[in-house]
Amino acid sequence: MDELLRRAEKLNTVGQLAAGVAHEIRNPLTTLRGFLQLQQQTNKLNQRHIDIMLSELDRINLIVSEFLILAKPQATKFRIQDVRFILGDVISLLDSQAHLCNIVFTTSFDSEPCEVACEENHLKQVFINVLKNAIEAMPKGGEIEIDARKQPGWIVITIRDHGVGIPEDMIPKLGDPFVTSKESGTGLGIMISQRIIQSHQGTMEIRSTVGKGTTVTINLPAVE
Ligand code: ADP
Ligand code: MG
Repeated sequence: MDELLRRAEKLNTVGQLAAGVAHEIRNPLTTLRGFLQLQQQTNKLNQRHIDIMLSELDRINLIVSEFLILAKPQATKFRIQDVRFILGDVISLLDSQAHLCNIVFTTSFDSEPCEVACEENHLKQVFINVLKNAIEAMPKGGEIEIDARKQPGWIVITIRDHGVGIPEDMIPKLGDPFVTSKESGTGLGIMISQRIIQSHQGTMEIRSTVGKGTTVTINLPAVE
């Protein structure tokens, strides 16, 4: 019975997701069609229309590429990796973007190895998603603290920003698809990150106070 219930829930999630994607993609498609029709009937497409069309196309592209991450086979290649090095890679990847926004990353890593069994690219994607949210939450710049620590049985990663924070009523909705407060957000980053962490038998927790900032804590089973 439990199994049946679990499968029904899973199907329901897939159905909701599919409906959400269809909806999110149909909106920009409707805009694109409208403008092309305008051009066909009146030949009056201007530069502004073209700019909008390009950004609507970019939006569709972004949604599709975020979903491709989910579509990749789940149990691919799990290897033993040190989370400190994966975080280091992601930080250098985002450093120039952060610099432009007056943001500095400060790290505090355990001196012990922090080894986990992981699909490296998937885990990188999680750290990129979380760090990007942190950057986007601090329009005036500031410090983002990144910690990685070995604890009994677990590797604990915390990413703390001092940004705008998340309203209390929004926190339970995080992880649902298309929940976004950003004009050009997709609301897919947290959902995808949570799924990736779950597939690593880990947990992800978000704590936040409006006006103070947000802390994301990720626990991953440690490889002894
Ligand atoms: P997106 O970034 O495309 O909006 P996400 O799933 O990454 O989608 O995040 C969903 C929403 O959660 C964001 O739009 C934002 O409102 C909120 N959020 C996530 N991380 C943070 C953060 N560090 N600070 C403030 N708000 C955040
Ligand atoms: Mg995001």
